[in-house]
Amino acid sequence: MASDYDIYEEYPELRDLKPRRSGGRKKKRRVKNGFKLLLLIVVIAAALALISAAVSAFSPAATVMYNRDGSVKAVPEKDVDDYIARGWYSDAADIAPVTMYAEDGGIITAVRGDVKSLEEKGYSLDKSAAFTTLYSEDGDTLYVPNSVKSTYTAKGWYDKLSDITKTLYKSDGSKITVMNAEVESKLAEGWSDRLLDVAKKMVSAEGEEKFIFNDEVEKYQKDGWEIIKRVIDPEQPMVALTFDDGPGKFTDRLLDCLEQNNSVATFFTLGYLDEAYPDVIKREAELGCEVSNHTWEHTNLTAVSAETAASVVKKTSDKVEEITGKPTPTYRPCYGSYNSDVLAAIDLPAIMWSIDTLDWKTRNADSTYNKIMSDVYDGAIILMHDIHEPTVEAAVRVIPDLIKEGYQLVTVQELLEYKRGGMENGKVYFDAFE
Ligand SMILES: [Zn+2]
Repeated sequence: MASDYDIYEEYPELRDLKPRRSGGRKKKRRVKNGFKLLLLIVVIAAALALISAAVSAFSPAATVMYNRDGSVKAVPEKDVDDYIARGWYSDAADIAPVTMYAEDGGIITAVRGDVKSLEEKGYSLDKSAAFTTLYSEDGDTLYVPNSVKSTYTAKGWYDKLSDITKTLYKSDGSKITVMNAEVESKLAEGWSDRLLDVAKKMVSAEGEEKFIFNDEVEKYQKDGWEIIKRVIDPEQPMVALTFDDGPGKFTDRLLDCLEQNNSVATFFTLGYLDEAYPDVIKREAELGCEVSNHTWEHTNLTAVSAETAASVVKKTSDKVEEITGKPTPTYRPCYGSYNSDVLAAIDLPAIMWSIDTLDWKTRNADSTYNKIMSDVYDGAIILMHDIHEPTVEAAVRVIPDLIKEGYQLVTVQELLEYKRGGMENGKVYFDAFE
């Protein structure tokens, strides 16, 4: 019986190793199950002997190939491609098992040789493709499959360490990054969370600009560097404080506060008061504030002819230019009153506001202060009047507190430049967005 069994019928892949013989194949015969196992063992032994013989001596053109199930076979060169197509590998390293990860957190075990095609299907050898490290506010970390990441972020975990850490600085240039929960205690130790508190932007005589930590500022000044007074970080929140109807006798106190806080505001001034308080608007300009236009004597521009509207604005701008050297870059219509004729007649951008403190009505510093602190947002234009003493009282409290909350106090022109790329004559602006 055994001699009738055709090993090549049962294992056709061995046929290629079969010594070439002329003549037809023997007929296939069924082998009883009882013998099958025994035969299999014999067959495998024979096959291995053949492989080894073929590889070592008789068949120099054969390639040893490896299957992912661990089997090994010598394959004639002409069949190698066919074997590869059927999932065999010519390099033993290719059948080494590897673990791969899907973006949704799935995990599969594959062989090294399949890595490339699996990568094309979105799997990765990199565990971080399937898992994310999450961070809690108090510094705990979690390693979770991407598939459940959103469940955790909804519960207050963060996937970016930078979301819950802060970089702190000292005036000698030292720098640490700490978890938000630690910030307060570090601030108490003398660290600062604002670079501009511990460093100055300086410019050399040749025009080179860089940040210099406070401890070194003096040394740089001796070398001819100068402090650039104010630096706007376009990434940080900013607001424009605006003061109408001045200048007046309280304005200087407001300017002191702006100067101490390295900040600026915009003043929509009346021409006849510019004439009366030239030193005040000159100082406004020197501090980098915007000296702007609120007509000569508080004219309701919609109640006069277009020519008159244009002329009372022009007259004020000319006065401001005579005193400060610069014409007014914008105007604010009195009573917020404008129409298309006014906009067409006046060749400047019209600036309205988005937060009305109603300071002129309440004449109450607390009320003005609270209104600003509760309504403020990045990009706001805030309306006040520096001719009222309670307004200036509110402003000197608001200015440092807004800075503490991370706001940069900028002019209207700067706000519109940084937030929307500038402004156009004849257009109306309410804040950085509208
Ligand atoms: Zn006004």
